[in-house]
Order: sequence, then C-alpha cells, then structure tokens
Amino acid sequence: MRRARGSSMGMIRLLALSAVLASPLAAQIARQWEVHDTLRPRPPIVSARGVPSDAMVLFDGRDLSEWRSGQGGPARWRVRDGYVEVVPGSGDIETARRFGDVQVHIEWATPAEVNGEGQGRGNSGVFLMGMYELQILDSYGNRTYADGQAGAIYGQHPPLVNVSRPPGEWQTYDIVFRRPRFDSTGALTSPARMTVLHNGVLVHHNIELLGATANMRRAVYTAHADRLPIKLQDHGNRTRFRNIWVRKID
Ligand code: MG
Repeated sequence: MRRARGSSMGMIRLLALSAVLASPLAAQIARQWEVHDTLRPRPPIVSARGVPSDAMVLFDGRDLSEWRSGQGGPARWRVRDGYVEVVPGSGDIETARRFGDVQVHIEWATPAEVNGEGQGRGNSGVFLMGMYELQILDSYGNRTYADGQAGAIYGQHPPLVNVSRPPGEWQTYDIVFRRPRFDSTGALTSPARMTVLHNGVLVHHNIELLGATANMRRAVYTAHADRLPIKLQDHGNRTRFRNIWVRKID
C-alpha cells in the first residue's frame, strides 16, 4: 500500500516536472546561473538625478503633446508655470501612448483654496489602463469613506496610512502596476496588482485589485487589451499635476 502510494507520488512528481520542462519555465531553469557567475549579464546603467534616464516623460511642465482628451481630440486642460490644471467640465485626459505593466511617477496638488467637502475636495485620479483608479483627493483633515480617500484604490482598498499634505502643497505618487492577465477565452488568469508610495511612504504593497474601478458597486474584471492609455480624471475640481514620467516594465 505504502509502496504503491510512493510510486504514484513519484509519477505525479515526474509528470509535474515534465510539465515544467515543456513550459516556458524550462528555459529559465536551464539558464540558472552559478552564484557570482561572472558571465551573468550586468543590469543596464540608469542615472536618476531627477527623472531616470530610461523613463518616458509624459509631462515636463511645458505642453500636453503626450496627452489627448478622453473623448478624442486635443487635451483641454490648462498648462501654466510648469504644471497642468484640470479645467472643470473639459473631461478626462489620457496618454496618447498605451501601457501595460508600468512604473509611474506623478506629482499633484489639490486647490490651495478649500471648497467643498468629502469627495468634492480636490478630487481627481490616476486611472491605470484607463480603468483602475488610484484616487486623488484632498484628504488633509477631510473625512470621507476609507476606500475613497487619497491613496485609495477607489472602492476597493484604503491606503495603509494617510500621509496627505495640506491643500495646495505638491504631493507624489510612485506606482508599480502589473496589468491583469486573461486567457484566450477572456477568463481572468491573474488579477492586476499595485504597489504605491504616497509622498515616499508605502500605502499599497503588491495588492490585488478586484476588477475595474466602479462606483457604488463591486468591481469586476472584463477582458481587455494588454496595453491601454493612462487616464487622469476631471472630477470638477482644479487639481494640478506636474513631473509625470513612466518606465515600461513588461
Ligand atoms: Mg477620483
């Protein structure tokens, strides 16, 4: 009995191993490096005094040439003094280029003059792939629901901490986004993941997204392209942005 079980376990391991060898993983296993292998390729050199040298700059304070209106046509937000400001009612803007897995740096400031409360105070958002929102809000002494404050993955995950600066002050998001994967039938095989630093402080650690951002209902996944534009939200508040760059990581 015991021997039979042992040999069937052996067979299962053998089958598992052959499945691995038949997969793309096989190439990785075959190319395992020795410890301190001098033939192992060294990482490319990137200088990072300010914007990393291998980053793609999406806004450097001068123009919106990398952006367009979410409804088509040119982006209609206002550029001045090195920043771009939401023009309420002009609509969302999105990148002309499309991105999948990506690192994003973006700086933003909610209006110095406080108007409104809750979700009506400095509301905007960074939508990865145009549909997964990292919330932007004036959350400095401004109460709202936890999964809708600054740093929240809207409607899903509150930030680990609230490191918001006062209204009018510049703040940073550094985002690492892994896009969801779908199989050929459109079924989800791997959910989207996000790691986020707000003002340099970790607020999401490789967290799993539940689906595309939705309002007042549970998020769900619907299969989509591997690369899509990044969108910034016009939520009717004059939120400002500057120094936006990305690094493709897929
Ligand atoms: Mg928003």
